[in-house]
Amino acid sequence: MYDETNDSFIWLFETFLEAMSKKAPKTIFTDQDAAMAKAISSVMPDTYHRLCTWNIMQNAFKKVNQLFRSLDRVNKVLSKFIYYYDKEDEFLAAWDKMLTEYNLHENDRFKKTFEHFERVLNDKRYKELEVEYALCQKIPQVQRLINMLIEAGKVYTKIIFEEFQDEFMSALEFYMKSTVDDEEDIVYTIVDVDTSKEFRVIRKKINNSLSCSYRLFEMNGVLCGHAIKILREVLNLKELPSEYILKRWTRKSRSESVKDMDGRDIQVDARLQQTAWYRNLCYIFTKISFRGAESQETYKVTVERANELNNIIEEMLST
Ligand SMILES: [Zn+2]
Repeated sequence: MYDETNDSFIWLFETFLEAMSKKAPKTIFTDQDAAMAKAISSVMPDTYHRLCTWNIMQNAFKKVNQLFRSLDRVNKVLSKFIYYYDKEDEFLAAWDKMLTEYNLHENDRFKKTFEHFERVLNDKRYKELEVEYALCQKIPQVQRLINMLIEAGKVYTKIIFEEFQDEFMSALEFYMKSTVDDEEDIVYTIVDVDTSKEFRVIRKKINNSLSCSYRLFEMNGVLCGHAIKILREVLNLKELPSEYILKRWTRKSRSESVKDMDGRDIQVDARLQQTAWYRNLCYIFTKISFRGAESQETYKVTVERANELNNIIEEMLST
């Protein structure tokens, strides 16, 4: 985006909605930009707009940096208040103790900076904060986030795109627990915030190829959210690398394979063509089912040949 005006944001969120099949998210996290907030309320009126706690904290941390003499120190002292205390009285007692310890009771600048911070803390529970932290920790700017989706929408067929979109969105709820550098590979442990399940994504250093313990890509041909997270946040890619787009799932391959009687390519709408093929096959196989069911012998032959046919088709589709 060239600028951050209201019009640009409206354009951005309309494009975003388009990419999401017009399904607006329940909640959207942003920093505190007023133009963005206005655009969200006009394009997606039912979406709950929240400030990213992590952003608020980051700002707070930067401002009180000097008081604690180093950023590391601020993090250590303050993160305790975010992740450790879940009862209000415990929190307040510890907070008071910290103010005394750092002689901050009478410090107006500190108070002012943390009014906002405290308000946020007070009306949120520990768990909620933890989830938000994981979500916000590395959330890229919205336009970068949707770029990969829009690009995928251009190449994938509709059904595969929807699967990819589900994986893509699920990646937003994962966080990276650890990274282990292992000579030839780097192993990332990714945790699903919802289920606390852990997955391992292995990245080969030599060519940056990814494989995940969930094995969705190997089974289904669609890259899982864990690997998508690495592509986007570690490798900083805006588009899905071509090796993760199986040709059989692309719109291009569907229209490429249509030829006329002399072997010339015919320009057709891939989806319409596919529907026509499907209808025709239903007609053929309904007829076969009727006749095949008439005797035990014809039934047996039909089942055998159907299995053979099934194997041939699967083999063709997987190459
Ligand atoms: Zn995975």
